Amino acid sequence: MAEGIVDEILVGGVWRRGAGPLVESRSPVDGRVIAALHGADAADVDEAVRAGKAAAEDPAWRGLLPHQRAKFLVRIADGIAAAAEELARLQTLDTGKSINETRALVASAEGTFRYFAAALETVEESVTPSRGTYLTMSVHEPIGVVGAITPWNSPIASDAQKIAPALAAGNAVVLKPAEWTPLVSLRLGRIIHAAGLPAGLLSVLPGPGTVTGDAIVRHPGVGKVSFTGGTATGRAIGAAAAQKIMPVSLELGGKSPTIVFPDADLEQTLAGLLFGIFSSSGQSCIAGSRLFVHASVYREVVDALVDRARSLRVGPGDDPATQVAPLVAHAHRDKVAAMVDRARKEGAKVLCGGAAPEGEAYEKGAYYLPTILEGLPNDAETCQEEIFGPVLVALPFEDEDDLVAQANDSVYGLACGIWTRDYRKAARVARRIDAGTVWINTYKQFSVTTPFGGMKESGIGREKGREGIFGYMRQKSLYWELTEAPLPWAL
Ligand code: NDP
Repeated sequence: MAEGIVDEILVGGVWRRGAGPLVESRSPVDGRVIAALHGADAADVDEAVRAGKAAAEDPAWRGLLPHQRAKFLVRIADGIAAAAEELARLQTLDTGKSINETRALVASAEGTFRYFAAALETVEESVTPSRGTYLTMSVHEPIGVVGAITPWNSPIASDAQKIAPALAAGNAVVLKPAEWTPLVSLRLGRIIHAAGLPAGLLSVLPGPGTVTGDAIVRHPGVGKVSFTGGTATGRAIGAAAAQKIMPVSLELGGKSPTIVFPDADLEQTLAGLLFGIFSSSGQSCIAGSRLFVHASVYREVVDALVDRARSLRVGPGDDPATQVAPLVAHAHRDKVAAMVDRARKEGAKVLCGGAAPEGEAYEKGAYYLPTILEGLPNDAETCQEEIFGPVLVALPFEDEDDLVAQANDSVYGLACGIWTRDYRKAARVARRIDAGTVWINTYKQFSVTTPFGGMKESGIGREKGREGIFGYMRQKSLYWELTEAPLPWAL
């Protein structure tokens, strides 16, 4: 086990060994076990939810005014800032991601807590137009205990995106990080714990999704689940939530189109396309994994892209020069490789990549080369299914209608990129594409102020933005009679 990593999880305010099975975290660089932790079992989940409920109902938390609650969020942000480099390195160790990316994720997590601390003070109750001699109001209250279930690709940013607004709204949180990457979430748990929140308000419960995650979703004391992960899991969680009539937010997968028109600035476009698919080694829900290029410039753009993709620097995450780091796990790399092999069988031409890199430095790592495919119809598996690796499939389009039909011919609707100098065309196309986020002449840029989420099978609900807090609240209407007159019916 890596030095300094202790076999303890946070259950209802207490750091202790989990009662669940051993969860191993392996280095994506060489496969060695870097941590082995006992995860949470259903009894741990029950204890965490009960403690969360008690903490959320305690006037010491529930009675705080927004500006008082905000102070805790600021303290958490300060804690993240103070441990920033350690958090980035830990996340690189666990996920394999490049250190530049994990530093950015830590900064984003810090910013998320600061933003929701500030946003919390802008949340207003409303006085609604009355239809009688009474005053009508709409108010928002905490839900109680929120379950937060996150994936392995950007743990600290996904965790913060759920914990910050949920705490801002006055809830307790039970967090379940992914089995492959529990370390940074546990470290974040220690920072939040140290910020002096009432004990029990946050639990961090690693463990297998089908055990720990499922126990959280089904627990009667959990009033909402906020989930980020794959569409199949999201569907299962949605079904379980329906049985409880429990609200859920689901941030799911994607197969996002990026579109190149003939008038696009080539340099800007190539940089954006490379970043859109190959940063995070393509392990990003918003990866621009389907490239549509206008037929008149298709060859020129795709050939230039292949040239650049071949010279991307593939290496270990802790080397600041690395652009494409190993994938999160060897098993995941093998899944990506198998999908590319199936693409070959479907008739794809592999323009670059399509294999693990060769050489001693890469032998033990979960590496896969940046890969560009072409020659497939849009209904091929490779063009329809999320690969979640450094694999781009290129397709030509003839005109705007053809483009929109192909781009929207997908069960997903998460993101889209449009590359053109013609802003009228961009505005038109952006409104016609089924996607929760559309980037125009840029890609994968994020602001915590701007709502994020998917359409279609990419999910329901929105995170971020001022309204993000309302996603963790229950709405209540209040009627205040202003006269002393009895209701006429009873007279
Ligand atoms: P999974 O859906 O397998 O896992 C996500 C989380 O859910 C993990 O913590 C997992 O636990 C847990 N889980 C698994 N099964 C259950 C269950 N039955 N009940 C409750 N929890 C469960 O996704 P991946 O790990 O494969 O993550 C990659 C996916 O996440 C991609 O499809 C990607 O598109 C999506 N994603 C979406 C984002 C968005 O905002 N739209 C952002 C980032 C990723 P464990 O791993 O321990 O089994």
